[in-house]
Amino acid sequence: MSYSLKPGVVTGEDYKTLLKAAKEGKYALPAVNAVGTNSVNAVLEAAAKNKSDVIIQFSNSGGQFFAGKSLPNAFEAKVLGSVSAAQHVHLLAEKYGVCVILHTDHANKGLIPWVEALIGYSEEHYKNTGSPLFSSHMLDLSAEDIDFNLSESERLLKRMAPIGLSLEIELGVTGGEEDGVGSDDDIGADNPLLYTQPEDCLRAYKLLSPIGHFSLAASFGNVHGVYKPGNVKLRPEILKNSQDLVKKTCSTGEKPLDLVFHGGSGSDKAKIADALSYGVFKMNIDTDTQFAYAKAIGKYVNDNQKAFKYQIDPEDGTPYKKQYDPRKFLRLGEESMVRRLDEAFFDLGSVGKTLAS
Ligand SMILES: [Zn+2]
Repeated sequence: MSYSLKPGVVTGEDYKTLLKAAKEGKYALPAVNAVGTNSVNAVLEAAAKNKSDVIIQFSNSGGQFFAGKSLPNAFEAKVLGSVSAAQHVHLLAEKYGVCVILHTDHANKGLIPWVEALIGYSEEHYKNTGSPLFSSHMLDLSAEDIDFNLSESERLLKRMAPIGLSLEIELGVTGGEEDGVGSDDDIGADNPLLYTQPEDCLRAYKLLSPIGHFSLAASFGNVHGVYKPGNVKLRPEILKNSQDLVKKTCSTGEKPLDLVFHGGSGSDKAKIADALSYGVFKMNIDTDTQFAYAKAIGKYVNDNQKAFKYQIDPEDGTPYKKQYDPRKFLRLGEESMVRRLDEAFFDLGSVGKTLAS
């Protein structure tokens, strides 16, 4: 089956079409964390170059950074910065000729109001345009008990579904630390919390799928960040067990759950391929693209040390204006991020698969 969508931000039924195509085609889309126009544009550039659709996501602190770190009301900055970032993507995505899913990353209990405020902006956007501002939001209540996790997910999805917003939830814990959430202490192949129970996935499916679209970040030993080999043991077969249980119990088609792979940075390529075959449509990448961005700029600073100390060379009078123009090194960061994303699109099998036409 071949599908075709208009380039630009996709939501609602188009979002579901994008997921369906990915699962049928056994590929996934990278979900890249962005913190400013530099990283957003690098993601769009990489997607266009690879003729792949893509997911751009903002964490709460990424959103805040977009608004500016000096704003005194941090909550307001997290909301307005995320809205500003989304508006930037809406304005430009179509020009890059690919489909873009706009998503927000981990929101723990304290950040539920952030998600609710963004849903409010999507409701407003829906009134004016017939579609929401974002495509989806994540609610990560994996640190709470499962009853609270699921009842809050149900409450929010009831508000989100009527305007075509999708909800990503997390069951089990993604190890490691990201943006100050979580801890490195829980890393370890023998920690049962790092592995989601298929029965919990079934419970979520029964509760949420009649309300609206949801996706599931299931834990199979994945962690945020990049750690020493051996500390992390990925067991993607857990994803298969969850799919099989839901399929059998609810008499659905193949792979009923839309699964999300958190902590894709630094993961073994063979395990990524296994995860895709079990119905993962989205793999988050942040740590590796951050490093790619920093590494290129670090090299440039190292190679041009004088330009970062003097406007004019104190010995021979050479002007360094061209070297210290921020566009020079920010662009190098973008290009390096694009090269790392080339690898991600390849690993996820999405090269050339854009539905945009
Ligand atoms: Zn994550």
